Parts: sequence; C-alpha cells; structure tokens
Amino acid sequence: MRVISFKKVKTRKSHQCWGCTKEIPIGIEVDRTINIDGNSIGTAYWCPQCAVLWGKLSMEDQSDVFTFGEFAQYCKDTGLAPLMGRGNEKV
Ligand SMILES: [Zn+2]
Repeated sequence: MRVISFKKVKTRKSHQCWGCTKEIPIGIEVDRTINIDGNSIGTAYWCPQCAVLWGKLSMEDQSDVFTFGEFAQYCKDTGLAPLMGRGNEKV
C-alpha cells in the first residue's frame, strides 16, 4: 500500500475507520488517505485514535500493507495499543 494523498478532512457522512473498523461520526476532523494497492486505488479514513498510533510507526512500518481492520490487531500484537479493540469494543 502506498499512500499518495494525506489530508485532514471533516466527515460529512459516517465512515468506518480503516484501522480499527469503528464508526467515525459525522462532523469530526479525521485523517483521510488515498492509497494505491496493486492496481486499485482506495480511500481510507482513520479515527483520531488510529491516526495517533499510525503516526508512531516508522516510515518502514507505514509502508506495510494493512487490510481493513488489521491495524488494530497490529497495535495489539506490537504492544502499541494492547487494549485496542475492533468494532465497537471499548478501548
Ligand atoms: Zn480507528
């Protein structure tokens, strides 16, 4: 996955966070990335929590491919956010 665009946007409809799959409510400021993955292009929205965690990764780790929701598991496995949950689990 290669990030080609990174932008702070205010959500106008609800999205699911790419990192943890939690619902991102309308009207908050989030990070939006546009990625190229193979031949496909995708847009991902990151909730504020995931955006902070993402920022702690090294450049090398950031170029890793994270599928939808996989970032939460990664944070758990690496101890970055051991209590991080998927879906609507409380963190
Ligand atoms: Zn998230």
